[in-house]
Amino acid sequence: MRAALLTQPGQPLTVRELPDPEPDRGQVALTVQACGVCRTDLHLRDGELDAGHLPLVLGHQIVGITDDGRRLGVPWLGETCGLCVFCTSGRENLCLKARFTGRDIDGGFAQRTVADERFCFALPPDLSDAQAAPLLCGGLIGYRALKLAGDGGRLGLYGFGSAAHIICQVAVHQGREVYAFVRPGDESGAAFARSLGAIWAGESTAAPPTPLDAAIIFAADGTLVPRALRALDRGGTLVCAGIHMSQIPTIDYDDLWQERSIRSVANLTRADAEEFLALAPRVPVRTTVTTYGLEEAEEALSDLRSGRFDGSAVIVL
Ligand SMILES: [Zn+2]
Ligand SMILES: [Zn+2]
Repeated sequence: MRAALLTQPGQPLTVRELPDPEPDRGQVALTVQACGVCRTDLHLRDGELDAGHLPLVLGHQIVGITDDGRRLGVPWLGETCGLCVFCTSGRENLCLKARFTGRDIDGGFAQRTVADERFCFALPPDLSDAQAAPLLCGGLIGYRALKLAGDGGRLGLYGFGSAAHIICQVAVHQGREVYAFVRPGDESGAAFARSLGAIWAGESTAAPPTPLDAAIIFAADGTLVPRALRALDRGGTLVCAGIHMSQIPTIDYDDLWQERSIRSVANLTRADAEEFLALAPRVPVRTTVTTYGLEEAEEALSDLRSGRFDGSAVIVL
């Protein structure tokens, strides 16, 4: 098979010929049809997160076909121990021995992959492979972040990329008002957010027209934390949804006072996935994707770094 490999963090991915991976017990072999590109892939590529091994096949939003013809989605949560205090209390996303697709287990920037079938999911049949792929991280972890943001009606989304463009649709479907915050100068991003139902879209340095009940930060920029905190109403919740964030500046206690809270969201549980994948067709979630070939995986990451497309990037095989 051909695969785009991370051999050295900080260096471009290189496409090479590798032996097809052999499934272990409990694993299923898949022919990859499409694999979404996530900011986590970029963090691993850039060395901001440690790779589980090198060389590594990135990619954890995999749409594949089993050898007996079934279409399955493979998400970031690849394996859990099933035994630790977190696994046995409905919080397998926090498992002490979790292994993650595209970090600890070779992922989907390749023609073939293997995955533990207990962590794979059927996908909404009305979405193409490329359209379904971004649901597997942007959708699933975005949905977990939305749940942790609470039920408030006025929701801010900071960083309007793959996850936000999906979660905006879900939040609007739930009857919430979405306030979208984009990089300063990104007028196309603001227009894109309004086209998906955001009631307001503006620069991340701006204050929203009304205080927010909750905000989710999808961007990896720690300077957004105090800004988003100041956009919250009393009792509001700020959810940091990224796996990595630059340094958070000092915050004033006055901005946290009145029962505002800041929390992170980590990974996903299989229950999150089942809930979200049942909800997505009812919204219905429609993803906006820019597709790349396997040989263009590095270009996809570099376009993600510079914000060159709206919605999600997907490698199609
Ligand atoms: Zn991801
Ligand atoms: Zn565990």
